[in-house]
Amino acid sequence: MYEVQQLIDGVWGAGGAGGELVVHDPADDTPVSRAPVATAAEVAHAVAAAGKAAPGWAATPAADRAAALHRAADALAAAIEELATAQTAEMGRPLESARAGVVAGVGTLRQYAELGPLRGGRTLAGGAEAIDLMVPQPRGVVAVLTPWNDPVAVACGLLGAALVTGNVVVHKPSERTPATGWLLARLLDTALPPGVLTLLTGGAETGAGLASQEVDVVAHVGSTATGRSIAAACTQTRAKALLENGGSDPLIVDAGVDPDWAAGQAALGAFANSGQLCVAVERIYVHSQVAGAFVAALTRRAAALRMGPGRDPGTELGPLVDRRLRDHVHGQVQAAVADGARVETGGRIPDGPGAFYPATVLTGCTDEMGVLREETFGPIAPVVTVDSFDEALSRAARSAYGLAATVLTGSMSHAQRACRELPVGTVKVNAVFGGAPGGAAQPRRGSGQGFGYGPELLDELTATKVVHLEAPPAGW
Ligand code: NAD
Repeated sequence: MYEVQQLIDGVWGAGGAGGELVVHDPADDTPVSRAPVATAAEVAHAVAAAGKAAPGWAATPAADRAAALHRAADALAAAIEELATAQTAEMGRPLESARAGVVAGVGTLRQYAELGPLRGGRTLAGGAEAIDLMVPQPRGVVAVLTPWNDPVAVACGLLGAALVTGNVVVHKPSERTPATGWLLARLLDTALPPGVLTLLTGGAETGAGLASQEVDVVAHVGSTATGRSIAAACTQTRAKALLENGGSDPLIVDAGVDPDWAAGQAALGAFANSGQLCVAVERIYVHSQVAGAFVAALTRRAAALRMGPGRDPGTELGPLVDRRLRDHVHGQVQAAVADGARVETGGRIPDGPGAFYPATVLTGCTDEMGVLREETFGPIAPVVTVDSFDEALSRAARSAYGLAATVLTGSMSHAQRACRELPVGTVKVNAVFGGAPGGAAQPRRGSGQGFGYGPELLDELTATKVVHLEAPPAGW
């Protein structure tokens, strides 16, 4: 059992007057971690203490901050197994995939350690006697609220970028993965001066309490509904809100593609991490010319996935994070079926402990169904058959979300139209995953605002000051 501690004002084990929360292993319902719940007073105290540490860290040379981040990355790299094991125990993800999440986190920390000191502003062409500069400065206190579905990789991006640019961070990891957040904070803290990193634990109420504090930035990766309430809170405090939120990514399967290959792409996109990815494939628009063979191949692949506890070698489909999510996903499937969708495979809650849900393929779906309109954070592949690429494109574009989209096509003109016309942050052609490291996009519509990744995140977490320097008049 992990006994999680908060880190407030440089002191481990601080606070906890708000009671405790217990996380259960979604594979077998056994308790795995216990974490304190921060009270409103603890949140306020933590933010005030972070504010006191901010000037010292901002004044630390950029190269020293970068060196600290490299040391933190070394500490993480030495604890991959420990972090992966905690993730798998808390949120069910297969161990191998949890390890990959930690490795991605290490890479992101190193990337920001390298990029941070290189970051500078433009020089301006002003008067010949003057020097004009644009100087990026730390924003101050950055509140970071992270989700459970890729808890190390996501947190490392925001924490790394905020810290290397000279901000102090108050991190509240998800209430479903507090031990993972705690282990990560312990490792990072070994490389940082006291007070630069704060760890608060608790649920939505603690998060809302943090988002309503007078901090400088609230960076949230999580659901669209939470993002909206954080944006509203930030209008009161005037903190900058950086939001990376939910998605309902379409996959377009064009006429003429190999249906078996396309089914492999669809299965990867829809079922990886049991569908619990912001950029999971959640709506499939397949051309009628290939629809029959595509659905048959996708159904075969879905039915063949090995479902089991994430800790078991060979598991391809771990449980969902908890029964609440599993019931919600099942409800979305049942509602679609009630409205005429057909279950090709899956769609049934298995007997036994845990929060397992099988890879599910639905056909006969319509745009009005919740499985197409809402985010489905589970292993669900709803398929819509279309008669033309035009129809696929226009239906794929109709969404409250705008995170990413994939098009599988042999036609260059169709690929180019998808890149131009889809109102999303990322368009992928002929591969659902695998973008280059360092990529960053601005999510659209309900999927968020600002750059949550890549070098551009460094700009989001700094404030640019223009400096105009002139010599005093001669003869002074
Ligand atoms: P969530 O928004 O419920 O929780 C994320 C964090 O916000 C947690 O720390 C939580 O305690 C906190 N929180 C919850 N309510 C809050 C409130 N009212 N005010 C302030 N903080 C609050 O999201 P989740 O369920 O943990 O994660 C799943 C969601 O995250 C999915 O929608 C997924 O698409 C999204 N996600 C997006 C990205 C991306 O890059 N766009 C990446 C990963 C996950």
